[in-house]
Amino acid sequence: MRAKLIAGNWKMNGNLAANAALLQAIRARAAEHPAELAVCVPAPYLAQAQQALAGSTVAWGAQDLSVHESGAYTGEVSAAMLQDFGCTYVIVGHSERRSYHAESDELVAQKAARAMSAGLVPIVCVGETLEQREQGDTGAVVTRQLKAVLDLPGLQLDKLVIAYEPVWAIGTGRTATPEMAQQVHELIRSTIAQCDASAAAQVRILYGGSMKPDNAGELLAMPDIDGGLIGGASLKAPDFLAIAQAA
Ligand code: PEP
Repeated sequence: MRAKLIAGNWKMNGNLAANAALLQAIRARAAEHPAELAVCVPAPYLAQAQQALAGSTVAWGAQDLSVHESGAYTGEVSAAMLQDFGCTYVIVGHSERRSYHAESDELVAQKAARAMSAGLVPIVCVGETLEQREQGDTGAVVTRQLKAVLDLPGLQLDKLVIAYEPVWAIGTGRTATPEMAQQVHELIRSTIAQCDASAAAQVRILYGGSMKPDNAGELLAMPDIDGGLIGGASLKAPDFLAIAQAA
């Protein structure tokens, strides 16, 4: 049985005062919800998240990490630094990083490996653009992005979290129907099963893309949807908690 995971991606939002209120509201009600909860905050606020959430059932994490271990990489944040701040998770390969920062499938895969070697759980994002979906390329794109990770030697596949995030659904208010999402989630699980059947049964595959309290229930009821990666709705505690409740 895979425990549902509801992870917030705050993106580049927040400030000390607003974060304090949001973290406190989530912490106060987290134990009421059956799902595992996590928040992926901007790097400067990791210490704040650690302080606010330590000892609670809510995990925290980052939104990216450097592929390098340490050294002359100005502006980058290493896996060891994330570990220093108690992170459990780190998002890798979000479509905004793939498109605005030209992150390739190979770089994303290496970042996932770097995260894992430091004991962090990478939340690896995959997903097609609207154009790719309309051309019937969804399966090929998602499989290519996923295979870059699966092909890396020595990865503990059962420790991965995958997030299927159709790019056309992120921040747009357009959501994949539960059937559309399930079809891709099933493809992801069967692709992992080709490498490791027992890991495939354990890997959590999250859906992301305009998940809100009013559509979360039907998405999370699908057999291969094991949680959500939540952008906009994770910035409002009542919405984030309502999604957790739907899980
Ligand atoms: C995201 O950025 O990962 C995301 C899913 O955003 P939203 O929920 O706002 O579509």
